[in-house]
Order: sequence, then C-alpha cells, then structure tokens
Amino acid sequence: MAAHQQKKPSEERKHRSTQNDTQTSQVQWGRAWEVDWFSLASILFLLMFAPLIVYYFVMACDQYQCSLTDPLIDLLTGNRRLSDIWDKTPMLTYRAVGSYTLWVSFQVFLYVFIPDFCHKFLPGYVGGVQEGAVTPAGVVNKYEINGLQAWIITHVLWFANAYYFHCFSPTIIFDNWIPLLWCANILGYAVSTFAMIKGYFFPTNARDCKFTGNFFYDYMMGIEFNPRIGKWFDFKLFFNGRPGIVAWTLINLSYAAKQQELYGQVTNSMILLNVLQGIYVLDYFWNEAWYLKTIDICHDHFGWYLGWGDCVWLPYLYTLQGLYLVYHPVQLCTANAIGILTLGLVGYYIFRMTNHQKDLFRRTDGNCKIWGKKPEYIECSYMAADGAKYYSKLLTSGFWGWARHFNYTGDLMGSLAYCLTCGFEHILPYFYIVYMTILLTHRCVRDEHRCFSKYGKDWKRYTAAVPYRLIPHIF
Ligand code: NDP
Repeated sequence: MAAHQQKKPSEERKHRSTQNDTQTSQVQWGRAWEVDWFSLASILFLLMFAPLIVYYFVMACDQYQCSLTDPLIDLLTGNRRLSDIWDKTPMLTYRAVGSYTLWVSFQVFLYVFIPDFCHKFLPGYVGGVQEGAVTPAGVVNKYEINGLQAWIITHVLWFANAYYFHCFSPTIIFDNWIPLLWCANILGYAVSTFAMIKGYFFPTNARDCKFTGNFFYDYMMGIEFNPRIGKWFDFKLFFNGRPGIVAWTLINLSYAAKQQELYGQVTNSMILLNVLQGIYVLDYFWNEAWYLKTIDICHDHFGWYLGWGDCVWLPYLYTLQGLYLVYHPVQLCTANAIGILTLGLVGYYIFRMTNHQKDLFRRTDGNCKIWGKKPEYIECSYMAADGAKYYSKLLTSGFWGWARHFNYTGDLMGSLAYCLTCGFEHILPYFYIVYMTILLTHRCVRDEHRCFSKYGKDWKRYTAAVPYRLIPHIF
C-alpha cells in the first residue's frame, strides 16, 4: 500500500502493465480467496471455543482466584460439575445492560457527533478528516479522526465522577465484570451478524465485498471491506478503537479502584501496569490517523474476527493482568519495578520508532533521514486489481534493516513487561504474551505471504537484504 500512502491514486499510476509483466503480481487484499481445510478448521474452532476461552479466564478469576488449573482439576476429579460452576456465575442484570448501553451509546455519540478539535491546538497531532488507503475497488474513504478527543472526554468524565460527582463507583466495571461480559457478547454477535447481512443485502460498496462461498469463513472473516452507516460511521474504526481501546484504560482504572477499596492501597505493580498500558492506548489514539494504514484497516474485512474480537476478546483478555492484580496484589521491589518499567519503555520505544520510520519513509517517498542518514530501500512494483502497475519502496534502513517486523518485536517486549508486573505465582497473567506471540508471528507470516504475492521477485530481493523476521540472527 506504499504508494497509496504518498500520493493520490491518480498520481500513483505510472502505466498500464501488460499480462506478461514478470515484475508485478496481482495485489491481494483481505484474507484467502480460497478456503483451505486448515483455515476452515481454525475458524470453526475459534467460533466455537473463543467465547468459552474468555468465559473460562474470567470465571477462573471469579471462582478460583485466577488459577487456570483448579477448575479443570475440580471437574476431572468430580469435585464439582459444570452446572455448579455455571450456577455460581453471575447472570445478565438490568444494571449491566443499562450501563453498557449507555457506554456504547456515549462512544457512538462522541464518534459521530463531535468533530475533532484536538488537532487545532495540539502541535503534531493529526486529527479531523483524514483519508484512508485505496480499497481494492479503488475507493479512498474519508475518516473523522477524533479518537484522542473521545478518550480525553471519557477519562475526564471518569475522574470527575470518581472525585466529585460520585454518580457511580469507580469499581463499577470490576463489580459487574461478568454481567458486562454477556452484554459485550450480545453486541459482538449482533454487530457481526448485522455486518454479514449488510454485506449480502445493502453493502456500502458492493465492489469491495468478498464472498468465498463458505458461510462460516465469510461470517468470521467478513464480507464487506469497510462497512459504514451513513457517511461517517465506520465499523472498523469505531469498534476497534472505542468500545475496545477507550475501554482498556477505564477497565484498568476500575481494577486500581478495586484494589484501593479492598486493600486500602494501590500496589506499585498496578500503577506500573496502568502507566505502561496507558502509554500504549494513548499512542494508539495519538496515531489514529496512522492506524488507517495498518493491516486491520488496509487489508482485513469486517466480520466476527474484528466485530466480536473488539467487543469481547480485546477488553476481556488484554486486561487480564489488572484483573489478576485485584485478586493477587503484588508489591514489586524497586529493582524489579525499574527493570519492568525499562523493558516496557524500551519495547514501546522500538514499537513506536519502527512504525514511525516506515510512516515517515512512505509519507516522504524516501526523502527523509533515518538515523541521520538518507534511507536505503528496495524499489518494487505491483499490479492492482484494475490491471494498472504501481511502484513502491521497501525500507531497509533503521530498525527495518534489523528485521522485517521489528515493530512487532517492540510490541512483544512491552507485552512481556505487562505480564511481569504480576510476578510468577500463576500463569493466567502470562496469557497475553503467549497470545501476542502467536498473533504477531501469524500476522508476520500472513503479511509476508501477502507481500510476496504483491511484490513477487522484489519481495525476494527484500527478504535477501533483510533476512530475519523478528529477532536479528535468530528468527
Ligand atoms: P506493519 O505496520 O508492519 O505493516 C505491514 C505492511 O507494511 C506490509 O504489508 C507492507 O505493506 C509494508 N511494509 C512491509 N515491510 C516494509 C518495509 N520494509 N518498508 C516499507 N513498508 C513495508 O504491520 P501491522 O499493520 O500489522 O501493525 C502495525 C502495528 O500495530 C505494529 O506495531 C503491531 O505491533 C501493532 N499491532 C498490535 C496489535 C495488538 O493487538 N496489540 C494487533 C496488530 C498489530 P505495503 O503493501 O504497503 O507494502
């Protein structure tokens, strides 16, 4: 998508390619066109088990003090039956439904009705109306980038309530965590099902729809590329950012408040976790315009994977460390706290700088400096769906010369730091680093497969110049 980031589509096109042009290959968007048995099996597995996995983790904290093995041992030894566990699980409540509806409606309101004003007074911040990448059908969508503003307003109101208005307790999220899980699931399934129906009957852009012929695959991976309601309500941008990522820091704050209520203090591990994950969340919103150029927006279709994932998987499983720390408050010694903080900050620095280097390089078409020098790169070309040939560049300087996905490596270092705040008593808080390692390694392979089919021989030249994926000299 390189050229898309630098110039308008009409300017990108250099010439029409011929059929026997060996330097270019058909660019691919989204996931596989052909559904192989492995993809189908994985999808069926996830559709059936992902909601259970989330329930299992949350239930293990609620009923077993965050032990992942005790529920299994209890069930296998006949100590408890599934129905015993289920009977002790809090059900859907009116309070949870009301709070959740209010929360989502408020985020919709902030997203749709409050145009961005942050970019008017925050130097360097890119907000307001921004263009996304070119879709397979050649559409360039416009987005209202106002996530930072929504995050700030939501958090100002949260603190105003906690310290002055006292309309609800700041522990409200923790106190209703399982009833809210049912609400999040209802929304996750409703939005995914709606997106599927919409893809069939009233798509935003029919030429950007992808039907594989397999119902489950289409439901999970999505049909529409950029489903929208009206001009501005974009499903991908809203669901990833708002119920998912704005909620992330609020959930952590609620956990901190619960620690305060239960133990009369907030541990340094909880503060560290709130700070490190807070930086990650703020980074996302500060760079929301950049997010329009990431794989989620540029290549993935909107289905259950994004819809349910953003409503349930992200807020429930990305925040497990904070939940764990409510049940097991950990006070880190100074050396450990400094070590974890350093790991988290170095990871964040690598993550941000790597993403920044690519963004700068692509935005300036290579007319920039990376680590004080003119960047080195590999020229490449590809053919789009309309048969036109486009040119692009693959950076081989800076962190992009160390490994092909060093941004993922930084992300993984940060993820490990979050987990380490919880000590080593249980494995549950380490779920996040295990999951992120699988997610980002799989993403690495998926992305490289796509880049190879996009750039062909040029991609091979690039992988020869930068032979490692995540860790120089190792992988
Ligand atoms: P990248 O930002 O790495 O984008 C990959 C794309 O960049 C490729 O498809 C290719 O696109 C282009 N590219 C690849 N190599 C080069 C190069 N050498 N020079 C220039 N362009 C290149 O991946 P993501 O969108 O997956 O991730 C963005 C960030 O989001 C990452 O830091 C990741 O860690 C983070 N992330 C976090 C997740 C979470 O759940 N916390 C989930 C997913 C991502 P093109 O077609 O334009 O050439």
